Amino acid sequence: MLRGMRGRLVLKTGALLLALFILTVGIVAFFFRKSVIEGSEEEAMTIAELVRDTLTSYMVLNVIDRKDLLLEQIKDTRGLEYIRILRGEAVKRQFGNGMEKENPADPIEREVINTGKVKKVLLEDKDKVIYRLVIPYVASSSGQVNCLQCHRVKEGEVLGAISLAVDLTGKKNEAFTMLGLYTVTAGGIFVFLFLVIVKHFDPYRRLFEDMKKVLGNFKEGNFKSRLETDLRDEAGELAQFINMVGEQLNFILTNIREKVSMLIGYNVMETENALKDTEKIVEELVKISHFKRTIEQDIRKAEIYERLETILGDYMSLDKFSIYEVDERRNAMRPIAVQGESMWCSEVILENANECRAKRTGHDVDSQEFPCICPRFAHNELCSTHGIQYYCIPVNIGGKVGSVVQIVYEKDMDMFVRMLIPYIKGYLQEASPVLESKSLMELLQQQSYVDQLTGLYNRRFLEEIVDKLSAQIKRRGTILGILMVDIDYFKQVNDKYGHDVGDRVLKEIAQTIKNNVREADYVIRFGGEEIMVLLVDSQEGAAERVAEKIRQAVENRPIEVSGGVLKKTVSIGVSEFPKDCEGKFWQCVKFADVALYKAKEGGRNRVVRFTHDMWSGEEY
Ligand code: GH3
Ligand code: MG
Ligand code: MG
Repeated sequence: MLRGMRGRLVLKTGALLLALFILTVGIVAFFFRKSVIEGSEEEAMTIAELVRDTLTSYMVLNVIDRKDLLLEQIKDTRGLEYIRILRGEAVKRQFGNGMEKENPADPIEREVINTGKVKKVLLEDKDKVIYRLVIPYVASSSGQVNCLQCHRVKEGEVLGAISLAVDLTGKKNEAFTMLGLYTVTAGGIFVFLFLVIVKHFDPYRRLFEDMKKVLGNFKEGNFKSRLETDLRDEAGELAQFINMVGEQLNFILTNIREKVSMLIGYNVMETENALKDTEKIVEELVKISHFKRTIEQDIRKAEIYERLETILGDYMSLDKFSIYEVDERRNAMRPIAVQGESMWCSEVILENANECRAKRTGHDVDSQEFPCICPRFAHNELCSTHGIQYYCIPVNIGGKVGSVVQIVYEKDMDMFVRMLIPYIKGYLQEASPVLESKSLMELLQQQSYVDQLTGLYNRRFLEEIVDKLSAQIKRRGTILGILMVDIDYFKQVNDKYGHDVGDRVLKEIAQTIKNNVREADYVIRFGGEEIMVLLVDSQEGAAERVAEKIRQAVENRPIEVSGGVLKKTVSIGVSEFPKDCEGKFWQCVKFADVALYKAKEGGRNRVVRFTHDMWSGEEY
């Protein structure tokens, strides 16, 4: 099929050359015909005039009888069909009808005799071409011969006519043969010309089509394609110029990409569109740098994690992901944010951080690279059927894995997620030092709230949280159980075993208490060997039960000391906030203390729930 540029070129050149060919053949044919006819005309005229003049001489010499011989001789002239002499009316009257007795004049001949004007007629049918010429013989008294001497005619009257016919069929056939030869030769030349033109334009056509493709690629941001041509003229120069532009752009964009990769420490995913890639890279870098400046202003780690969550969820449109923080103290993973499921990982990582592969190895965990590699991913059956994939990124904070970001995605999101990962890493990289400094700050702050000996919160901490906590309890309409725990006869330990053993006992008992309350509850060293426990969101009567559990746990836990095994007990006073004290926290504390006093009074190693009859004073 003749399609595209080549098709158009072939069609147009072909049509033009064909038209030219037809035109030249037409012109040649026309002139052939014209020259054949004109040649014959001249020849015929010469013969006719020759006959007329010879006849005139014969008449002057009075040998007119010879005219038949003359005509006989002329008849043999090539191509001459016939020649005859006709008499005008006056001559007929004077000398008789002559030749016309058998063969009277035809209408053409009569017309010449009547008008005295030369007549030429070309008679053509399909197999014969005849040229007829009739010239008049006009009487004249002037000139060399005075016709009026012998003829009884007036000056200018037509004496007769010479009529002849020439057969042009042979010449016509000759002309046709010539024309045929010409047509074949010219046709050959035109076909040759056509091929030469098409061949000559072909490299240009190819270059033009390639240019369209290459520039189209440029437009799509792909600057890798190049033009190839053997042309050395302006078109070749243009191709070289386009190649140079592509080369430069490609170089610049690759350079940007490499520098950015060095800057952020990861390779940015490459697509076909280098322009778009570069635009995206720059855009992301701006965002990442903005992110860095923002988080530096944040006070708490939690705020930074919240921002990361927003970036992953809102900005990157990820609907399944988790952010875990490594709790160094407990060596456990702590979920900060989980999207799309209650937990994407097995709960064992909440007990032991090393169960998390990304945390343990410090390397990315990619379920695509090594299919469903992490046994702690809770949905590996979906992973193995390619329903779901995961990618976990450990975040290095202060030389250790401090948190882990997990992206969970459907298989068809693969490309998208892989494109995002370098940017996510960019954000995490910026977040890492800030998280580290915030962690240190939080640790310092925590330490100022923590009692060094027992690891329990101190009274400063209690003072810090008390307003917020009591307000929360009131708002939620729940109960805060308050336990005041005091070790029985603790002084004796010090006295008998020394202060160090006393310290150990205190630590052990503190730990026992902690082990018997929930994570969300607060265990506070209230003073000396007196420990306060705040049971958050407990139910009515529950505080007393927990107190009893603690009492039993302490009683049943012998403490090994250098001098032997110690068995200690505790007394516990219990009150419930807010109802015992009409929402006055410190009054409830006092009431718990009153109950504790009652427990001591009652013989120690027991739990006493505060009742209002124990308190005679007006108010704390
Ligand atoms: P009870 O409470 O049963 O009435 O008797 P107790 O012996 O425990 O009574 P008391 O309150 O008089 O004694 C508290 C003792 O706890 C006094 C103090 O030496 C000791 N103590 C307080 N803080 C510490 C501490 O940090 N380390 C050690 N080793 N002992 C402490
Ligand atoms: Mg005591
Ligand atoms: Mg005491």
